[in-house]
Amino acid sequence: MIRTLQELDLSGKCVFVRVDFNVPIKQGRIVEPHRIERALPTLRLILPKAKKILIASHLGRPGGKKDLGYSLAPVRDHLERFLSQPVTLAPDCIGPDVEALVQDPRYKVILLENLRFHKEEEKNDPVFSRALALLADVYINDAFGAAHRAHASTSGMAKFFREKATGILLQKELDYLGRILSTPERPFVTLLGGAKVSDKIGVLRNLLPKISTLLIGGAMAYTFLKAKGIPVGKSLVEEDQISLAQELITQAADLRTTLFLPVDHIAAEESKEKPITTDVSIPSNHMGLDIGPKTITQFNQEIRNAGMVLWNGPVGLFEVEPFSHGTKFIAQALAESKAISIVAGGDTVAAVIQAGVEEKITHLSTGGGATLEFLEGKRLPGIQALEDGE
Ligand code: ADP
Ligand code: MG
Repeated sequence: MIRTLQELDLSGKCVFVRVDFNVPIKQGRIVEPHRIERALPTLRLILPKAKKILIASHLGRPGGKKDLGYSLAPVRDHLERFLSQPVTLAPDCIGPDVEALVQDPRYKVILLENLRFHKEEEKNDPVFSRALALLADVYINDAFGAAHRAHASTSGMAKFFREKATGILLQKELDYLGRILSTPERPFVTLLGGAKVSDKIGVLRNLLPKISTLLIGGAMAYTFLKAKGIPVGKSLVEEDQISLAQELITQAADLRTTLFLPVDHIAAEESKEKPITTDVSIPSNHMGLDIGPKTITQFNQEIRNAGMVLWNGPVGLFEVEPFSHGTKFIAQALAESKAISIVAGGDTVAAVIQAGVEEKITHLSTGGGATLEFLEGKRLPGIQALEDGE
């Protein structure tokens, strides 16, 4: 049983919250504070109830030692503005100076310094885990993006707490991604794209029995088309995945999962100049770089009629304008669909934001590796650690 933040009594308690503040920083300035904003609902819920709140995160890869280039100081400034209250940056995440701050009633919101200043964090060291745990009465994990890692702050420290729960952001991930694994609304449409079949194979295998309609786009479509004997020119193909693609095509048919592969393409020569529209076969000197208009229409139709849609992986080389249209149209179709829409993957979420439709998507998953592993059916250490009796 995993409890939610809302189920705990926080009054008079010191609450430790593991968040994901691993924001992009350039020359001491935060380029994009999205990740800080996403943790605010959890922090705002805890603030009026708890006696004290300790906020902990990793930032970058300082290599297990104190390196002020990776200090959370810039995060503190943002956080203070977002919360409209003083936030104290502790000089470290454990140790006597931190304990003194925790004991001092003058400080209510304390941001612990970068967890990865200690190599013990990534090693999930039990002594370090215990030192972190001793600082607080309650443990909240809201760092879904780090939940697939068995680190001290995401996993090891949780066993020292009787009072532990999911934060709002992490709970939302479990609710929506969990629904895909248990009882997705039907028809359940999954659109997979992106560069590589091999990245997505685990997800595909695990979800295939639940999927009503599978749409495949992006570079991974060419491995499937080649497996069907269709000429794909110079498109990206993973030769070592062709037999697996064949196997999945057969399996989909056995399971009565409708499988759509692109029926036309936007292709170009390797210089990526002068895009042309091709039918399903691609000329030998060209590579497929986006789905074509007929495919867009087909995919759109499936998305519009869906009860639930999972989308992971752009359907083209969306970073380059002439090949970004397919992905943009898909984002638009998803935004206009009445289906519960779940978008996963760093590049796919970026594409949705770029298309300006993020508000219209039911759930944008914040985990890269964590989301894929969850959908593969793996048990994530950060989630397991929140279970009672562990
Ligand atoms: P996500 O981060 O959302 O999981 P991936 O990392 O799997 O997505 O895939 C994104 C990448 O796939 C992008 O860089 C995109 O340009 C690339 N891609 C998609 N379709 C093609 C294609 N037809 N040819 C080359 N690259 C492609
Ligand atoms: Mg990616």
